[in-house]
Amino acid sequence: MSINLEKYNQIKEELEGKATLVAVSKTKPVEDIKALYDLGHRDFGENYVQELVDKQAQLPKDIRWHFIGHLQSNKVKFIAPFIHLIHAIDSISLLKEIDKQAEKANRIIDLLLQVYIAKEETKFGLSDHELQAIIPQLPAFKNVSVKGLMGMASFTNDMRKARAEFHHLKNLYHTLTIHDSRFTILSMGMSSDYHEALHEGTNMVRIGSLLFGEREYQK
Ligand SMILES: *Cc1c(COP(=O)(O)O)cnc(C)c1O
Repeated sequence: MSINLEKYNQIKEELEGKATLVAVSKTKPVEDIKALYDLGHRDFGENYVQELVDKQAQLPKDIRWHFIGHLQSNKVKFIAPFIHLIHAIDSISLLKEIDKQAEKANRIIDLLLQVYIAKEETKFGLSDHELQAIIPQLPAFKNVSVKGLMGMASFTNDMRKARAEFHHLKNLYHTLTIHDSRFTILSMGMSSDYHEALHEGTNMVRIGSLLFGEREYQK
């Protein structure tokens, strides 16, 4: 077992009453997940469909699984029966496929729209303009529920830059919450920048390496 319990407790305390902690367990063994589970933790994040499906089969069924990576349309069907929240919707075609698979699984699936806030660096996510264009189309999808926004800041040591990017995302989120009360989740902040995200009002952080140690390879 290689969980950093001290860090886990520290982060839980920092987030108390402010943000949900999604423990990002990609590339880490089920034993590590089970160790946090046994402490009462239920929200775990994964990036790869096959890995998630394998882990889900082996672990307790009351875990809330978050899919935080880039999701390919042809793989939605494998996670539709159990996924708790999909964080990174970046196209109408993906939304359509999730809606279809949710109906088949007889569920309403909760989603976040991913916004491209680190302009030069992220490959995935909606531009502000694309976000504005997608919003009016959402009511057509009856088997999904869009709960909010997700974003990733630039990989940089310049924390002012990360903060400015989070600030921008928070403003977008606030504008949307005025029009739609179902918007309740703002997913931003990772191991390196969750303090900045907290400052800017995140209510869901996705933290991996601080809890589970560095990943051996960046899958
Ligand atoms: C891997 C990953 C994380 C966690 O990253 P850490 O730096 O290990 O905290 C968070 N969000 C997304 C989208 C990821 O892919």
